[in-house]
Amino acid sequence: MAVIGTSSSGIVRYAPVGRCIYCGRDGSANELGDEHIVPFALQGQAVLPKSSCKDCADITSAFEGRCAHAMYRSLRVTQNIQTRRPTKRPKTLPMRSSTGQIVEMPLQGVITTIPTVQFRPPGYFKDPLIKETNWTGATLGVQTGSPRNIQLWQDYSAPDFSVEQGFDLDSLARMMAKIAHATCAGTFGLDWFTPWLPPYILGADAALSYVVGGAEGPLEPKNTLHEIRYDVTTVGGILLVTCTIRLFAQFGGPHTKVIVGQTTEECVQSFNRKSANVAPPESGATQ
Ligand SMILES: [Zn+2]
Repeated sequence: MAVIGTSSSGIVRYAPVGRCIYCGRDGSANELGDEHIVPFALQGQAVLPKSSCKDCADITSAFEGRCAHAMYRSLRVTQNIQTRRPTKRPKTLPMRSSTGQIVEMPLQGVITTIPTVQFRPPGYFKDPLIKETNWTGATLGVQTGSPRNIQLWQDYSAPDFSVEQGFDLDSLARMMAKIAHATCAGTFGLDWFTPWLPPYILGADAALSYVVGGAEGPLEPKNTLHEIRYDVTTVGGILLVTCTIRLFAQFGGPHTKVIVGQTTEECVQSFNRKSANVAPPESGATQ
């Protein structure tokens, strides 16, 4: 029994789902839209067509927007990450001078910040019977990138500047849950597993740290911007489907572990048979 794989972070269009992956509605009353698995605003390229109703899209885009703005604004603006509103992209970002003033610094002079959040492991792994929201023990960090043109600082009468980095752990965890759920819905199909995450994604269940947490893993930068792995592991006699997500792996981002749901031995075997059928022939077989 093993299902282990990596979802491509390149430009991918999965097969259309035909119902909302969050609330299950078929979309006849409420048109189904395409879902970016990693948010568009964080340079997401993989798309799950016809997979989110309008009501659910309003909910997911609200917490994704909070993440993109509160946590990743500096990175998005200074690195020119794709945006749906290019004309609204700011030409400056606020920085605090060592004399205490906030100045609007041209982007070339801005210190880029990348937030890193290393959560404790999902609460389910510690005790499946205790369900609560508890981010105690999470380690928050900030990576910084030097300004491209520090000479610009000389235009302001201050010797030094600093920047602030915001964090929104609930929105971040919901976004991770959404990425994991959408990855598995696209890879396996919704009937392959019993999804646990929709109530957390839609805000009906606030105990996010029960199913979203951290994972050990090397922190060196990777070639891919984002890295998403899925696997099935037996925990307490249950076949758990989990996702390990490294947002901004290219900048050494930490690993987030998400419990996506559970599946059955039959589903695992049928997925492995299907994967074996599409795998390239072994070397030698074609010669
Ligand atoms: Zn929906």
